Amino acid sequence: MQFQSVSDRSLDDYASVTDHDRMRRIRSAADRLAGLRVLHVNSTATGGGVAELLSSLVPVFDDAGVDTDWGVMDASTEFFEVTKSLHNGLQGRRSPLTDEMKATYRSVTDRNANAISDEYDIVVLHDPQSLGMIDTLVDRFPDTRFVWRCHIDLTAPTESHLDFVVDDVRRTDHVVFSHDEYGRGIDLPPSTVIYPSIDPLAAKNRSLDRSELRAERDRLESISFDADTPVITQVSRFDPWKGQLGALEAYRRLATTFPDLQLVFVGGMAADDPEGPRIFDRVATRAADDPDVHLLTNQPDTTVNFLQRRSDVVLQKSRREGFGLIVSEALWKRTPVVGSNVGGIPLQIDDGESGYLVEPDDVDALAARTERLLADEALSTAFGHHGRATVRDRFLVTRHLLEWLELFLAIR
Ligand code: UDP
Repeated sequence: MQFQSVSDRSLDDYASVTDHDRMRRIRSAADRLAGLRVLHVNSTATGGGVAELLSSLVPVFDDAGVDTDWGVMDASTEFFEVTKSLHNGLQGRRSPLTDEMKATYRSVTDRNANAISDEYDIVVLHDPQSLGMIDTLVDRFPDTRFVWRCHIDLTAPTESHLDFVVDDVRRTDHVVFSHDEYGRGIDLPPSTVIYPSIDPLAAKNRSLDRSELRAERDRLESISFDADTPVITQVSRFDPWKGQLGALEAYRRLATTFPDLQLVFVGGMAADDPEGPRIFDRVATRAADDPDVHLLTNQPDTTVNFLQRRSDVVLQKSRREGFGLIVSEALWKRTPVVGSNVGGIPLQIDDGESGYLVEPDDVDALAARTERLLADEALSTAFGHHGRATVRDRFLVTRHLLEWLELFLAIR
């Protein structure tokens, strides 16, 4: 287990984006929890939405007075092959889960659970990767409350994969989902829905000054990106659920109407996701040598920020999406998003007001909706204003913090 150090941002830093009443409720809940010790555990320090969330939440928990640690599991690629297969099966895709894989899972989760020496009041285990630690932790720390924070879509799980995790889930005290559909029909401990959030002060989302914009533009131009022509972008891990091939297909249709249109895929490789290189190769092969399609990996946060701002439309062609932080990230930058009507995406896009929702296999609709926005600047600007206001109200880190504090008050 590797304990992470985080930024020293304070709650006051968010005063300008948080209304007075919400700030007052945060302070009041945090005062009632003063001295509480909380540990969050996940499986990667960088890449993917969970790492993104924890790096912004942990500092504000701490600053509010809840003593919060973040531990990242120590694990090998073999373990991550198992947990990605588990993740895929839980989201309904056929994937193996052999006895040998189960044994790997058990030994790595037990080892990580035994690496925790301090006693916490509450331990939050994120996703299936860390869930198995409960087996050892409940015996070692009988007075601790355990929460399973499930970030994935559990609406149509493969039975064998659900059977493998469900006893562990039942040993936790509480489950947190990103959507009220996700645990439906499964006999689980009490659960709460908490939407994830973005951090408006993080390098990924803060405003960029003129010299930073210039630097990002120059850097991208050096890899043959043209900052003066229309751009559509999808930011996501290279992952079978994210639908990059469908986005490429939609781009091809649009390129007949907009010959200088560029498509950018930004896809970092998360340490706990071994599928990245395989899917990257598949997309690169299909993109062939189209000079207007750019596949970028492991870009700095300010580059992702720049591309989300500079894009005329952001696409999110997922087939499943637990939440999809990238949607709020783009909307916050006043960029309209055309996304699949799955999982957390419709929670964020107001269809016809901040972007459009399309069915996940409907490439024609994806192209047509994107074309409408590319062709109508006034519409795009109006969508941008609406998207920014939505995120400000519903998807920033301070709302998220308050809901966690309220949950802790209820279960401690
Ligand atoms: N991300 C990134 N660089 C990339 C790809 C993704 O920084 O090349 C970030 C993205 O900006 C977002 C997170 O990774 O903050 C992805 O979270 P999301 O909830 O969209 O999806 P997940 O990866 O958790 O399925």
